[in-house]
Amino acid sequence: MPRAKRYAVISDIHANIEALEAVLDDAKAQGVDDVVCLGDVVGYNAAPAECIRRIRDLGCKVVKGNHDHYCSDPNVNLDDFQPNAASVIEWTRRNISEDDTRWLHDLPLTAVVSGFTLVHANLDTPGHFRYTFNDDDAAANFATQATKVCFHGHTHVPCIFLRDNATLRIAKLAPTDGILEKGKGLYFINVGSVGQPRDGIPKACYAIFTMEGLTKLSIQFRRVDYDIEAAVRRIELAGLPDRLITRLYTGQ
Ligand code: ZN
Repeated sequence: MPRAKRYAVISDIHANIEALEAVLDDAKAQGVDDVVCLGDVVGYNAAPAECIRRIRDLGCKVVKGNHDHYCSDPNVNLDDFQPNAASVIEWTRRNISEDDTRWLHDLPLTAVVSGFTLVHANLDTPGHFRYTFNDDDAAANFATQATKVCFHGHTHVPCIFLRDNATLRIAKLAPTDGILEKGKGLYFINVGSVGQPRDGIPKACYAIFTMEGLTKLSIQFRRVDYDIEAAVRRIELAGLPDRLITRLYTGQ
């Protein structure tokens, strides 16, 4: 029997290098073979260049998030943003190299890796970065999902949407570990956020996806402690909004 292949599926790093390093250490300890990244490498926190460097060095598959787009496309007009959001985007634009800006700009919106799909927000209109909070939001995605499993992020809250093959009914499930049953339906799985969790748990979040052949698939959600104080010190030094500090401590 072929050995199972294990992927770390990470998303919404948001320039938090302390959280990213902790997650990659944990993934290594868990025997992960490969990493895939669902975007928003930058934005909110204060180590964008460090996070881009780490992800680029991994050479892993990455798709583009909305913050990657805002921070790498000068045509995005910041007048439409809240002043706090605009200030972080401007700060990030100033603190990444031209080469890294180009790398962010050129990321694809979707990708397929060994039979599963990656997208930051949703597949039906990937460049619009719509949020998937409920079954109706997920329905639009399922209409265009061609693989059994698709991973997404964007809300920073881990969960599993399952569309039953027989009834086409959609269920929103808690992020629990287990086998993704073969005949059951399509899975649209949110892996939560590495660098700015918003489900009330401040620990960094990601998932391990295990494939034994093409049919035996399982998912495990991981929560990882990291040095929040160090990430906060960077935000303070950069003079970014206080609200970003509170978010890290509360996980909201
Ligand atoms: Zn995000």
